[in-house]
Amino acid sequence: MYVITKQFHFEASHRLDHLPPSHKCSRWHGHSYRVELVLESAQLNEDGFVRDYGELEPFKNFVGEKLDHRNLNDVVPGVTSAENLARWLYDFASSLWPEVAAVRVSETQKTWAEYRPERRP
Ligand SMILES: [Zn+2]
Repeated sequence: MYVITKQFHFEASHRLDHLPPSHKCSRWHGHSYRVELVLESAQLNEDGFVRDYGELEPFKNFVGEKLDHRNLNDVVPGVTSAENLARWLYDFASSLWPEVAAVRVSETQKTWAEYRPERRP
């Protein structure tokens, strides 16, 4: 299996308003988000790539237009946790490219959340 990844960045605010007031994530705050798109393929294309990184431009545009300098609570359906954001971005990316295997979202230097669908047996 061949695996490639590409990172994207955006800045945004959010709050997890279902959490109790004592939880710091219930307050409005912002992150410098990092998003990593993971593509996998058992075989390479005729150019020797899983997919040309340049073809991922629509994902960069999506992140820039929908998420950058936005309030995520206005954009992302449901809870704006990193996990749910990864799922939402996965659904978009996998609709464009069949090689998309996972999306990772990082809110801080030390944390990553990943969504990847369960493999069917
Ligand atoms: Zn947060």
